Amino acid sequence: MRPIEDTYRHKGLRKKLVDTVRSKGITDEKVLQAIESIPRHFFLDSAFDEVAYEDRAFPIGEGQTISQPYTVAYQTQLLEIKPFEKVLEIGTGSTYQATVLAMMGAQVYTIERQRKLFDGNKNFAYLKKFPSIKFFYGDGYEGLPTFAPFDKVIITAAAPQVPEKLIQQLKPGGMMVIPLGAGEVQQMRRITKLENGVLKEEVFDNFSFVPMKEGKKG
Ligand code: SAH
Repeated sequence: MRPIEDTYRHKGLRKKLVDTVRSKGITDEKVLQAIESIPRHFFLDSAFDEVAYEDRAFPIGEGQTISQPYTVAYQTQLLEIKPFEKVLEIGTGSTYQATVLAMMGAQVYTIERQRKLFDGNKNFAYLKKFPSIKFFYGDGYEGLPTFAPFDKVIITAAAPQVPEKLIQQLKPGGMMVIPLGAGEVQQMRRITKLENGVLKEEVFDNFSFVPMKEGKKG
């Protein structure tokens, strides 16, 4: 069962979480504001109520996780989101990352390959606040050619290589943030498609994500 109450206690814990994420080096105030206002415990089973505001990943079923808040903040900060930008997210999972992006004014297109996780978000009442998020069941490696091009692409699963089709769906001047690596640990990279089509790649810290898998799981 999902919790439905957002108490003063939860709000207080969120402020502390923001302090923690800030102390780890996140400076984008819009990212921090989004973390402060989104009730992360809504995205978890009520069994996690006591720990929902610890800076950790938690299970969301089907062997998947809601990312650690610091990781969400880190990727989002690298994306440099501006209001009304079109953002493609691969790996909807709990929808927490998608709501952070939407809270910052992005138009979010998010894809999940696991039917059960996709269906589980259909009756999640809190998402009614975010009409700017569009949900898709499919294989993230294919992207969404119908809705391309995107200003930004965020991949929230460990990608063994840069998905070529997603680079194609990026606008000139657009950016992709991707945890790259086939092993236990991935390097966060930011790939910018310059106006002339040339790709510029920057390397950031190491993280550990669940793997980005091929195809859909029904
Ligand atoms: N952004 C999520 C993190 C979820 S974990 C959140 O905020 O909670 C990564 C998710 O990526 C999992 O749900 C997994 O099923 C999904 N995933 C893995 N490979 C994928 C693919 N090829 N296409 C779409 N989703 C994928």
